[in-house]
Amino acid sequence: MLRGRNMSSIGGKVIAITGASSGIGEATARLLAKNGAQVVLGARRKEKLEGLTSEIRLENGLADYRVLDVTKYGEMEKFINYIKNTYGSVDVIVNNAGVMPLSKLEARKMEEWNRMIDVNIRGVLHGIAAGLPIMKSQGFGQFVNLSSIGGHVVSPTAAVYCATKFAVRAISEGLRMEVGKDIRVTIVSPGVTESELADSISDEKARQVMKEYRKIRLSPESVARSILFAIEQPEDVDINEIIVRPTAAD
Ligand code: NDP
Repeated sequence: MLRGRNMSSIGGKVIAITGASSGIGEATARLLAKNGAQVVLGARRKEKLEGLTSEIRLENGLADYRVLDVTKYGEMEKFINYIKNTYGSVDVIVNNAGVMPLSKLEARKMEEWNRMIDVNIRGVLHGIAAGLPIMKSQGFGQFVNLSSIGGHVVSPTAAVYCATKFAVRAISEGLRMEVGKDIRVTIVSPGVTESELADSISDEKARQVMKEYRKIRLSPESVARSILFAIEQPEDVDINEIIVRPTAAD
């Protein structure tokens, strides 16, 4: 397979995408496959992954899927090892899976705090832990980690969510400094994007506020294009972070 430091194309790249069953992950899977990548989708909802994989294949894209819960390291390790063993390399891991059950801290929704920490932080760490040894032995690779505008600014009801997204930026920047010679690390920080993300809000007041706030939003395809841009750069160019907002956002 062609792979050179100056090759600016994603054709033939083997790309793992977590949280690929809806929203940004789904749009990214479609776009990367359209551009010639072999995509391998991971998430918990098998039917969604099955349907999306078939649709991509019908358009002559290269897609495969595995059921994956990113909070379980064993499952992540199996997912990434499956990709390496089946397709020969793991060129990119898009750590995209995330949840956002917003509420004020005083509501003490501790189970939801834990879920955000488990999916949004531990899930990303698990992707790094499973992928890094493989990328190091290959001598190349790229992590694309989904943070958020919420990884830059905090807002009420979003303290824990923002904390997880600040953490994604801190982890990604530390990783970049440690492995930057051969392995690229990209943070993608979107503003409000149309997806299922706000469906996980159980707090009625936070849900109503978000409904209003989320009226001005990007399409998930717009975020997918940012991810494609970061991946398609020549290997000696590392797009460290992309912040992408709707033009009309504050
Ligand atoms: P969606 O809710 O549409 O997608 C989230 C994805 O994560 C789904 O595919 C879901 O699949 C998956 N997921 C959730 N929990 C797990 C788990 N335990 N294991 C594996 N997969 C899991 O939301 P988005 O597309 O918006 O979210 C994608 C990322 O973008 C998230 O990290 C989010 O924080 C970030 N983001 C989103 C913004 C927005 O406004 N939409 C703005 C900024 C950042 P399944 O349920 O099948 O497991």
